[in-house]
Amino acid sequence: MEDKELLQIALGLSSPWFVKDINLNTSKKRMDIYLDFTKGTKFPCPICNKLSELHDTKEKVWRHLDFFHYETYLHTRVPRTKCNEHGVKLVNVPWTRQNTGFTLFFEALIVAMSKEMTVSAIADMVNVHEDSLWRILSHYVKEAMVKTNLSNLDIIGVDEISVKKGHSYVTLFYDLNKDRVIHIENGKGKDGFRKFRDFLSTKTNPDNIRYISMDMSPAFKGGAKEYFPNAKVVFDKFHIVKMMNDAIDKVRRSEYQSNKELGKTRFMWLKNPENLTDREIIKMKSIKDLDTKTAKAYKFKLALKRLWEIKNTRAAREYLEKWHYWGTHSNIKEIITLAKMIKRNSYGILESIKGDISNGVVEGLNNKIKTAFKRSYGLKTEMYRNTMIFLMAGKLKLPTRS
Ligand SMILES: [Zn+2]
Repeated sequence: MEDKELLQIALGLSSPWFVKDINLNTSKKRMDIYLDFTKGTKFPCPICNKLSELHDTKEKVWRHLDFFHYETYLHTRVPRTKCNEHGVKLVNVPWTRQNTGFTLFFEALIVAMSKEMTVSAIADMVNVHEDSLWRILSHYVKEAMVKTNLSNLDIIGVDEISVKKGHSYVTLFYDLNKDRVIHIENGKGKDGFRKFRDFLSTKTNPDNIRYISMDMSPAFKGGAKEYFPNAKVVFDKFHIVKMMNDAIDKVRRSEYQSNKELGKTRFMWLKNPENLTDREIIKMKSIKDLDTKTAKAYKFKLALKRLWEIKNTRAAREYLEKWHYWGTHSNIKEIITLAKMIKRNSYGILESIKGDISNGVVEGLNNKIKTAFKRSYGLKTEMYRNTMIFLMAGKLKLPTRS
């Protein structure tokens, strides 16, 4: 078999396209493959598909997958048709989409690599500028987002993550039916809910949303009430336990002033008893013996966590009432404040138990996103950032080969 014929098969070319010439440059480790089409071929106008006369051709070049360690480029003259209705147009050739310098095979490789490597590492490896790779990724992410079906969506999660050091946040909206990020808004305000509703309207009826799981921030509560009035608001266990942990730490820090035994114990109080190390168990016992407020606050946390083990809503409501009573009589300022807040928002906490809804999976997705952010510090634009978030947590159907 001739090497041209072999390449033709490897490239998946079919009539009228054929390999005209190959140029191997061993010192530059580069292979240039020249394609052409059979003379006299009529091509369809890219708009109406009607076979049209050839007007002229344009020279084009595309980066293709490396053959072995040779950077490989395809060259050809691309025909321009002259359609009676649409005028002169560049035809679509099967190995690429329009206006990119890459073949579909090459782009599919970049998409596949992006799940395992940072874009800058891929850029180094394939010797292509990072910006070009981001454009490829963003194209496929957008295309997949358009195709994403949300018609059965009825449970959503909302959470904010910090995207830069300091106070820059984005609000992420999650499909909790399928555990994926479906929308990103800048900031963490109420207005994000309006924009999310607009986005959702293009996919499904926003009034189909039955539950929104989130934290107790006034902006989120306001946004949910105004733009998703039919949905039940659910306050997620994770966020409530986090508030509890923050309260314990406040208690500990103020108590530390008079009890130095509490130094360096911050992380111990965040843990569940079963996760404590032997050393921590001994330490905790000795501190409890001293009957500290911190140890008391820790007991309040463990008691609150037991709430989610009660599956009966009425029993859960009664338990929460009792916990609130104990909390407000605890003589610990931080616990009293928290107990009052939990009481005010108990409707959403009980809803999380009734509907068995949590943002648990959201934390996993957020950790993936945060890790990706850390790896690729300096995501230059919002487009890069959003593309990255969807790649990591969007569960998109991306092309793996063409
Ligand atoms: Zn036409």
